[in-house]
Amino acid sequence: MALEAEIQSIVQQFEYSDGDVNNAVKEFLRQMDEGLGKDGTSMSQIPTYVTGVPNGTEKGLYMAVDLGGTNFRVCSIQLLGNSTFTHTYNKVAIPKHLMVAKTAQELFAFLASEIKKFLEEHHSEDFEHHIRRRKTVSSPSGFRDEHIFRMGFTFSFPVKQVGINKGTLIRWTKGFDIPDAIGKDVCALLQAEIDKLHLPVKVAALVNDTVGTLMARSYAAPGKQGSVLGAIFGTGTNGAYVEKLSKLKKPLSGEYDQSTGEMVINTEWGSFDNQLNVLPSTKWDVALEKDSLNPGFQMYEKRVSGMFLGEILRLAIIDLLNNPNVSLFKDENSSSNDRGSVTIIAKDSGLYKQWGLDTAIMSTAELDQDAELAGLRQALENTLDVYAPAYEDAMAFKKIAHAIGRRAARLSAVAIGAIVLQTGKLDDPELKDEPIDVGVDGSLVEHYPGFRPMIYEALSVIDGIGEEGAKRIRIGLTQDGSGVGAALIALVAAGMEKSASGADYLSERSSDNKAPGPAAGDDKTTTG
Ligand code: ADP
Ligand code: MG
Repeated sequence: MALEAEIQSIVQQFEYSDGDVNNAVKEFLRQMDEGLGKDGTSMSQIPTYVTGVPNGTEKGLYMAVDLGGTNFRVCSIQLLGNSTFTHTYNKVAIPKHLMVAKTAQELFAFLASEIKKFLEEHHSEDFEHHIRRRKTVSSPSGFRDEHIFRMGFTFSFPVKQVGINKGTLIRWTKGFDIPDAIGKDVCALLQAEIDKLHLPVKVAALVNDTVGTLMARSYAAPGKQGSVLGAIFGTGTNGAYVEKLSKLKKPLSGEYDQSTGEMVINTEWGSFDNQLNVLPSTKWDVALEKDSLNPGFQMYEKRVSGMFLGEILRLAIIDLLNNPNVSLFKDENSSSNDRGSVTIIAKDSGLYKQWGLDTAIMSTAELDQDAELAGLRQALENTLDVYAPAYEDAMAFKKIAHAIGRRAARLSAVAIGAIVLQTGKLDDPELKDEPIDVGVDGSLVEHYPGFRPMIYEALSVIDGIGEEGAKRIRIGLTQDGSGVGAALIALVAAGMEKSASGADYLSERSSDNKAPGPAAGDDKTTTG
């Protein structure tokens, strides 16, 4: 009985009421606006220089590369113009010694050599054609800018973006440490190495994964309306949305196309409400915070994303294990424990280590509707070395996990709902029956059972959205952000180059039908 009462009290502390959701939405809108006005606010609201989203009719052959934490992916993407595409890709593990190389040049030379390999393997004809022409054709102004693949570069480290293909590295994360690269333009670093190998490739766009998600979803989503938001709920959480230029008050340093009147903004919403005006804080949130690497930052992310939910659960479980008044994983609750077996927690169980409980088991707990909770009890053994857990103990675990997951989903609805309200699209009479499209990516939203339904439930209680509005918000999974999404941003960038310089390399390309590369002048860059 003591356990049950204690569980109820814990669950209740993770309640995030309809009133709380509405307060948080108001604060989210306020902090968004603040970030559009000036630098140094909790939500950075970073301008991406991407000034429109695709509508599915875009065509052409583009390249994309993705430098994540562990792997380097190179791909080429043929956009077919009917919301579909084909692609080819190579993936290679980044050698550990290059993650901590002396100079940035060593790492980027490796990336360029992988791009070269990819071209030789999958686009040999264009590649050799290009090399031949470079050797034979010259003009007074040097080599012509021809047969060039436009490439989107997804770079998942903090950068200060100052143009569509320009951004300086702020700091390394995820085990990388090459001090020489800090403050340098990562696109220029890559381009320099590409040029040394004479590859027909231009780094056309620097891509954040949220923006890639938005673009990929917008290309693939049914209907003519573009998507309004791309959001990640994976290790971390972040979102990028389409904002009116008139609301972006802080100065922009780089050039961009003003004709659409819009720009994609990378919110960096992981840092929403670092000051804790409206975010909930249980004693377990406080405990997580105290031992985190970046206390005071990413406060919203720490209550929402995959890296942290398991740790919150672990801390709550540890409290129960240390509470002399309750019994958890000690056999004493068991009415139906397997006779003859005793619950044992191994000394080196993940329960006793920071980050030792992977959020994935919360999905297992949520999924398990079995009368005996057989799946969850097995997972407790397999992943946490809790042997022969009783049904009652597994149920306690499941209830707390659910409360933490539910709070995360309701907090996710705060960001999504606020951004839908910010776009004003629900009230636009011209869009009366149109869906408001949102693309999402990440293991949490993909695998946690009921995560999206819980988001919808919370969206429907938000003032200004309501049940009718929630029905119009269409949240779709999108996993091609760093491939198709990056290619689409390269396409937008190519359109910008064209209008800026007057140089019409795209139609120049169309007169040479031997070579592939960006498709001819029928490329449609953006919708407005
Ligand atoms: P990334 O954010 O690096 O692109 P993912 O989207 O796969 O990667 O997210 C990884 C995060 O999701 C990790 O924190 C992990 O704990 C969590 N995770 C992995 N599988 C699941 C699952 N089945 N349910 C909930 N969370 C999961
Ligand atoms: Mg991801």
